[in-house]
Amino acid sequence: AVDLPESQPSPAAPAKLPPGMILDKDGKPQWAQHTKSSLKSGVGAATGATAAAAAATTATTANDCPPDVEALGRSTWTLLHTIAANYPKSPSYREQSDLKTFMGVFSRLYPCWVCAEDFQSYMEKEQIRVDSRNDFGTWLCEAHNAVNTKLGKPVFDCSKWEERWRTGWKD
Ligand code: FAD
Repeated sequence: AVDLPESQPSPAAPAKLPPGMILDKDGKPQWAQHTKSSLKSGVGAATGATAAAAAATTATTANDCPPDVEALGRSTWTLLHTIAANYPKSPSYREQSDLKTFMGVFSRLYPCWVCAEDFQSYMEKEQIRVDSRNDFGTWLCEAHNAVNTKLGKPVFDCSKWEERWRTGWKD
């Protein structure tokens, strides 16, 4: 496995960790950086117990802090499914090639090391389909479902991916 920076979100974080806390690759807890920066800008005059209490409060309420693996995942799926929704029905050779390149690079750069490794394995097993919007949207939905299954989440009905991400739900 590649030794990636320690600040990456860890997917193995137990559910009971306080909001804002993430685990590094070795499972060691670390606070997201917003605690320190919030102290500098927001409650800089506080000292001692007051500062600690303010930091704890900030850590549980701030939403402008580094993402944990869940927030990162939600945002990333939004981007990927929205790319699928805006991908042409009949893409040019260049568009197909760009999408393949993007997804290959994405799978190597995704800043959650175990997620990236598993996603690369998935892409090796299930070759990406980029011939049309529906091909890619369905492939991506299936890829997302593979992660859902791994995490024990419900599987999404891939016949509905376009309603969820492009057209809106039919009444
Ligand atoms: P998400 O899974 O983030 O989904 C967001 C929304 O997408 C849902 O609310 C639903 O409306 C819609 N949706 C759900 N499934 C589908 C689908 N199949 N097709 C289309 N739309 C769908 N987390 C880990 O802990 N371990 C991992 O190994 C891991 N690997 C990941 C790999 C990738 C490439 C990405 C992008 C994320 C990964 N994550 C991983 C994060 C994880 O998938 C979730 O994003 C995170 O747990 C938050 O889940 P959620 O329940 O909010 O919904």
